[in-house]
Amino acid sequence: MEIQKNKPSISTWEKVLRTSLKNQKELESFFECPFPEINYPIRIPLRVAKKIKDLGFDHPLALQYLPHRDENLSQGSLDPIGDQKFQHGKIIHRYNNRLLVIPTSTCPVICRYCFRKNELYDGTFVDRDSLERIKNYLIDHPEVEEVIFSGGDPFILSTSVLRKYTDIIKEIDSVKNIRFHTRTFITIPERMDIELLDYLEGIISHFENVTIIHHINHVSELDEDILDVLSKMRRLPLHQFSQSVLLKNVNDTSKDLIELFKSLAKVGCIPYYLHHPDNAKGTQHFSLSLEQGRKIYHSLRNQLPGWMIPQYILDIPEGEGKVPAFNPEGFKSSGKFINKSSELVDTQIF
Ligand code: SF4
Repeated sequence: MEIQKNKPSISTWEKVLRTSLKNQKELESFFECPFPEINYPIRIPLRVAKKIKDLGFDHPLALQYLPHRDENLSQGSLDPIGDQKFQHGKIIHRYNNRLLVIPTSTCPVICRYCFRKNELYDGTFVDRDSLERIKNYLIDHPEVEEVIFSGGDPFILSTSVLRKYTDIIKEIDSVKNIRFHTRTFITIPERMDIELLDYLEGIISHFENVTIIHHINHVSELDEDILDVLSKMRRLPLHQFSQSVLLKNVNDTSKDLIELFKSLAKVGCIPYYLHHPDNAKGTQHFSLSLEQGRKIYHSLRNQLPGWMIPQYILDIPEGEGKVPAFNPEGFKSSGKFINKSSELVDTQIF
């Protein structure tokens, strides 16, 4: 049974979500020009589309969301970080003490560089049966202390559905921490309404740690409404971090990153992760080498305090886990990394 059925009414943010550009025809009509046909879905909230119209098609904001013909190239992996090895339905159990739940197959915005672009968007979400399976999995795995809801974006679900998810998890005593990875508030700030605030306060009183990690790559994504939402969240007793992906032509200069991290820190959102881009099919045009990434990252050290510098990390392909991408011994990479089982593995990442 689908748990999204019988919703009482449509909230303001859901109305906003419905005005998003959702296909090539809507895109071409809004921007009054043709775009290449791509093999992936499109979704751009109107707020973001209007900013792109003002800033131009070459701007880092536009490059993240507008379709590009190189998305149809065949190079790259369908499972770049080896999720499949650890996936059981809608959950991924890669690390011992935390469990990732994919609550829905979509997001408020569809990013052209998404590392899950070949896995998401199939129209499915966690239904009542899979919620029971998650509950049983957690009962069988008391070593899991943290549940992470991650892309598809949890906050694209209605608050009543979110509540159902966390109510089930609240029944499991071994789960102490809950985390949300989201791009919603950066693209649809209207999502932060009274009902959601009330929900967040409720889970904060239950779990030891509630963490919200905003996905944002460039300072131009911020505006007054979004900063206002981040400031509101700052007043709640939760952890608020950011994660960004280092992307060619989007944020591949220290200036871009410093502007972003300073703006986030100003409203209490601490930079947490800077991801080296994964080798996902359809995202090659965003790739840059590890040597380039290390040079950019190194240059942050002189210009930002340590607490404002996120960890630069990469996912070793084949599911070998996250590792620091920076090496203080040199910019060039040998392509060898220590995996999560403490073994040295050879990769194609240079
Ligand atoms: S928000 Fe994250 S999961 Fe969703 S499309 Fe963007 S990168 Fe992918």
